[in-house]
Amino acid sequence: MGDDQVTRDVELRDVTKTYGDIVAVDNISLRIKPGEFFSLLGPSGCGKTTTLRMVGGFIDPTEGDIYIKGRVVNGVPAYKRDTNLVFQQLALFPHMDVYENIAFGPEVRKRWNRKETSRRVREVLNLVDLGGFEDRRIQQLSGGQQQRVAIARALINEPSVLLLDEPLGSLDLKLRLQMQIELKRIQQRVGTTFIYVTHDQGEALTMSDRIAVMNKGRIEQIGTSEEIYSRPRTRFVARFIGDTNLIDGEIVHKERDTVTVQGPGMRIAASSGALNGSGRMVAISIRPEKIAIEPASASTSAANCFRGRVKTMTFMGSVLRYEVVLENDLELLVEEPNHEGLRLREGDEVNASWAEESSVILRDEE
Ligand code: ADP
Ligand code: MG
Repeated sequence: MGDDQVTRDVELRDVTKTYGDIVAVDNISLRIKPGEFFSLLGPSGCGKTTTLRMVGGFIDPTEGDIYIKGRVVNGVPAYKRDTNLVFQQLALFPHMDVYENIAFGPEVRKRWNRKETSRRVREVLNLVDLGGFEDRRIQQLSGGQQQRVAIARALINEPSVLLLDEPLGSLDLKLRLQMQIELKRIQQRVGTTFIYVTHDQGEALTMSDRIAVMNKGRIEQIGTSEEIYSRPRTRFVARFIGDTNLIDGEIVHKERDTVTVQGPGMRIAASSGALNGSGRMVAISIRPEKIAIEPASASTSAANCFRGRVKTMTFMGSVLRYEVVLENDLELLVEEPNHEGLRLREGDEVNASWAEESSVILRDEE
């Protein structure tokens, strides 16, 4: 086995897909490791499904190459690829039972004899925690169980790569959260590479080893959940993944570890480790939970501290959410855990403060 095969299962090199004037996927490159849970995340219309279907062999790229296990697969039809696709519409056969649904594909292709097929159906059913459900009708199953039948039906083909296109999209919130945990567990158990498409950032953060955030056919950032959330590289990523405060400014001073950014009537300290690119004009992202607010009388040693007034306080259960207007009229969104003790109210004068490293410097272009 060559080194390529060990370190990547799927690779896209400079892949573009156009439909007339529409650029559905715009020159993307990425590498997915064997056994990785890799998500394509982005708003509707950003090119996720098109990307997934090009990997699966249902759509041909206009330009660029797709590799599976180190081999170019351009032009190889879907059924000859080592991939399997699970749709949002599960497309289970309602008139067949669970066993028949899962055995259908291998039987049509005469892949194994009866006994071997039966053994394998039972094996994948155990894998998705549906052992003993062979004779159940599809209508007798809950949404989550149907979901697992669809996964089992894909897994029985032993694909190297399972492609999932918003498979939990039709489930209600509670079931979706359960299935996220469940799916991740199944993936870890079988060790199959998953490429998972979703527009739901929480879902991607929960399940993925790595995430590619897509916008308008391009990849804005690839990283672990933690990297994408804590160190977004662009405004789009910062805004799409959770709430944030964005402040435009100009770099006016650089020291070894610290950068000073002149914003609208405020100077912000940021750590230079977060600096990428060479331009002077930047934006700074500060997550609401990284900002502390205290009564204006309190003293603070934080690198960034600004006087302001509480405009609104919203009780959200586990957190309290504040809108704070600073003296320069800038509004900050602040989140505090709902601890016992002092609670600030609308109209209170406060200090809003955060650490240097909580100022994340973003690239200046949109
Ligand atoms: P997503 O899955 O992220 O919602 P898609 O990959 O389905 O996005 O679509 C990306 C863009 O390409 C959209 O603007 C969509 O309208 C366009 N598109 C997708 N398929 C076709 C097609 N067959 N013909 C024309 N435009 C398409
Ligand atoms: Mg889609």
